[in-house]
Amino acid sequence: MSDNLDPISQAIRIQTPRTAQGEHSTPLYLTSSFCFDDADAMRAAFAEESDDNIYSRFSNPTVDEFTKKMVMLEGAEAGFSTASGMAAVVGSIMALLKNGDHLIVSSSIFGNTNTFIKKYMPNFGITYTMVQAGDESAWEAAVQPNTKMVYLETPTNPQVEVLDLEWIGKFTKKHNLILNVDNCFATPILQKPIDFGADLVIHSATKWIDGQGRVLGGVVVGRADLIREIYLFCRVTGPSLSPFNAWVLSKSLETLDVRMERHCANALKVAQTLENHPQVLSVRYPYLPSHPQYAIAKKQMTAGGGVFCFEIKGGVEAGRKFLNALNMLSVTANLGDTRSICSHPASTTHSKLTEDERLAVGITPGLIRVSTGLEKVDDIIADILQALEKAV
Ligand SMILES: *Cc1c(COP(=O)(O)O)cnc(C)c1O
Repeated sequence: MSDNLDPISQAIRIQTPRTAQGEHSTPLYLTSSFCFDDADAMRAAFAEESDDNIYSRFSNPTVDEFTKKMVMLEGAEAGFSTASGMAAVVGSIMALLKNGDHLIVSSSIFGNTNTFIKKYMPNFGITYTMVQAGDESAWEAAVQPNTKMVYLETPTNPQVEVLDLEWIGKFTKKHNLILNVDNCFATPILQKPIDFGADLVIHSATKWIDGQGRVLGGVVVGRADLIREIYLFCRVTGPSLSPFNAWVLSKSLETLDVRMERHCANALKVAQTLENHPQVLSVRYPYLPSHPQYAIAKKQMTAGGGVFCFEIKGGVEAGRKFLNALNMLSVTANLGDTRSICSHPASTTHSKLTEDERLAVGITPGLIRVSTGLEKVDDIIADILQALEKAV
C-alpha cells in the first residue's frame, strides 16, 4: 500500500495480509500462540532475529494492525496496545520510572489515574508533585533533580479544561523530561500531542476509539526507545490487548474521522443552545468563545470534542431531577459513545468526596457532564430542554 496516503486513509486501508480466503474485511487471529516450521525458526523468534509471532501476550497480527493504525494517526514511531486505558497509564509510567524518580502530574486527571499515582506509586519509591493546569510558575517550581516525567490530560474530565501543549512541550524539552499525554478526550483526529513535543501519547480506546460502548482497550504510542521499554514491561506483566477487542477497535478506526466530525458538530450546537438557557448558569466547551482557554483550544485542536459540561441552577437536587427526567439520553458513567450520555458527578462518581474536595477539582453541585452522541442533534436538544423544565 502506498505510504503517501493520508493517515486517515491509512487507518481505513491498513490491514494484516489476506488469508487464502481472500476476505475483504480484516481477518481475526484468535489464537494464544503461533507455530514454527522447525526448531531453528523457533529459536530465531525467541532470539528476536525474526519478527515471527510467538505468543499473543507478546504480539498478535490483529493487535499489531490496530497498533499500527494508531501509530500512523498520532504520527508516532512505535506503539503497544493494552487491555484497557488504565493498563496503558500504568504500563507507560511503571516501565519508565524507578525507585527514587519523581513525576510531575496535572491535578485534573482521570480518577483511577489519580488513585494509582497517589496510592500505589509511593509503594515503589516514586514521588510526585501535582500542579494546577494553567499555573506556569507552579510547573517550573515542581521540577526536581530526580524529575523524569510529566503526565497530563487535555481536555480534562469533567471540566474540559485545556492545557497549553505548546508551552508544556517546550517546558519538558528545556528540563529534559518525558512528556506523557493522555489524549483520550481529543483523539488523534482533533489533536496530535506529538506535534507539540509529547514523547508518549496514551489512550483509553474504550471511549471514542471504539465509540460504540462495546469493548475495553488502550494503547501507548510514541518514541521507539520508550515504547521498547513499555513493550518489555508489558510482555512480562501481561496487560496485552485481546485479539478480539483489537479487531473491534481496528474496524472502529475506519469510521473515527467521520464519527468525530458529527460528535463535535452536535456537541457545539447543544452547548450553544444551553449557553442562553435561563436554567443554566454556565456552559463549558473548548470551542465556545466563553471557554477560558478558547484561544489555546483553537491553536491545538481542530474541533472542540464530544464532551461538554454545564452548571444547572438549583445544585445537587436539580441535577438529580434533571437526570431522572431524561427520556432518550443514557444515564451511565461511560463517555464516547454513539448514544448521548449524561452524568451528574456530585451525586455519583464523586459523591464520596466532601463538598470542599469536590470544589477543589471543579465538581460544582449542579455540574452535568454530557458526552454527545450521534443521534440527530434536534432530538438531543429536545430531550435536554424538556428535562431542564422538569428540574426546576
Ligand atoms: C476512561 C479513561 C481512562 C481509563 O480507561 P479504561 O479503558 O476505562 O481503563 C483513562 N483516561 C481517561 C481520560 C479516561 O477517560
